[in-house]
Amino acid sequence: MIGRHPNRRQLARWLDGDATELDEHIGSCAKCAETLDALAEAETKDLRPALMSLLTPPTDLEERVSRRLAARLQSRADVELFGALLGIPIETGRVVMEGSDASG
Ligand SMILES: [Zn+2]
Repeated sequence: MIGRHPNRRQLARWLDGDATELDEHIGSCAKCAETLDALAEAETKDLRPALMSLLTPPTDLEERVSRRLAARLQSRADVELFGALLGIPIETGRVVMEGSDASG
């Protein structure tokens, strides 16, 4: 059933992989999908400086990133679902997932 719309904070939590109780609502609510789209886009923009630094990794960073990517690939199915839900390409979805993790 579709109850109240989750607020942006809840949607952000959902983007982080929490708030799975919102799955059903978000999966069937175009308005929330739109809001999530905007949230994901904003996160991607915030990520740009971080992405730029990743393009020129210092010392051991590259290895750490590679390990993290390997771990992330195991949850690729989740990312694909995430991307499909938002109607965004897989690469963008992965960047968003990476970003939410890297900020912690
Ligand atoms: Zn909604």
